[in-house]
Amino acid sequence: MGADKQGTEHRLEMLRQLKEKYNQPDPPEVLKNKQAKADIYQQILRAESPPDDPELCLDCWVYHGERLKMVAHDSTEYGIDIFRCANDHERRAKHK
Ligand SMILES: [Zn+2]
Repeated sequence: MGADKQGTEHRLEMLRQLKEKYNQPDPPEVLKNKQAKADIYQQILRAESPPDDPELCLDCWVYHGERLKMVAHDSTEYGIDIFRCANDHERRAKHK
């Protein structure tokens, strides 16, 4: 399952970036920052427990908590399938 593996790598990369953001020292505007940290923390939790449906958009799930299906588009490159969600996140997967 090539798409699954690619999805996992993408998810781990998002997780890495979120944790990095979360662990950054607090900037001066503390109140605003607390809310932002709470949001990032929720995103980390979601990135750690992805939906079991591989057709759902990972970005939407992690960043917004939305369960949007990725829809296949015409492939522009040979052997590559392009999927897109309603929020225009894109995922490319090799043909199986
Ligand atoms: Zn999306």
